[in-house]
Amino acid sequence: MNDNQNPEIIKIVIIGQSSVGKTSIISQFVEKTFQQDVQSTVGGSFNSKSIKCEDLNKTLKLEIWDTAGQERYRSVTKMFYKDADVALLVYDITNLSSFEDLQSYWVQQVLECSLKKTMLIIVANKSDLIEKELVDEEEVRNYAKSIDAHFFIVSAKNSESVNEMFKEIAKKFSGAKKVSIIDGEEDNQYQFKKMRKDSVRVNKIKDKDKKKKKCC
Ligand code: GDP
Repeated sequence: MNDNQNPEIIKIVIIGQSSVGKTSIISQFVEKTFQQDVQSTVGGSFNSKSIKCEDLNKTLKLEIWDTAGQERYRSVTKMFYKDADVALLVYDITNLSSFEDLQSYWVQQVLECSLKKTMLIIVANKSDLIEKELVDEEEVRNYAKSIDAHFFIVSAKNSESVNEMFKEIAKKFSGAKKVSIIDGEEDNQYQFKKMRKDSVRVNKIKDKDKKKKKCC
């Protein structure tokens, strides 16, 4: 049966220190754009993008929750780990503390708060700045192995391996051998704000709001 009308949803949370490039990775994947000066994520947002599993005649919807790395929003993010299928744990290859923070804080949060077996993926971002790399790749690979995580090296700036990473996630979840990204769904952007009692309010970001944001 073709289940394109009723796609399976994979919930992905993208976490890590502020400025490692979480929002940029999503923009590159969802909209194929990169901005040098991205506005800091406030509260959080989520985007969705569909992937077709060619050989299974099936569609997966990747829901990517950008949880904002700032200290003051850490309580917001906790709620989202619990039913996350995948956690993208991002660090910046030019910033050692961003990797240390992953080890000491973010990985622990996912392991403690997730109620399912969340797939862990360590993402080394900013591969275009390889000449400024301060984090030892071998050390990261060993660490990833020790926590049973996958490891990808990407660049949100030049898009290296960004699509490949999301396609691999789709393959691992569906068992498909051939997948393709469905373009033309860039309107699926939402914003969430933390409300009282650990609940969140989700609003769809309309095109007019996106434009407003850019000019202010
Ligand atoms: P977030 O706070 O983790 O969401 O990080 P942002 O996506 O806001 O990115 C922080 C800064 O890093 C911005 O100035 C981005 O332009 C820059 N940035 C993000 N990804 C890359 C990348 O792959 N390469 C380079 N050179 N800069 C990047």
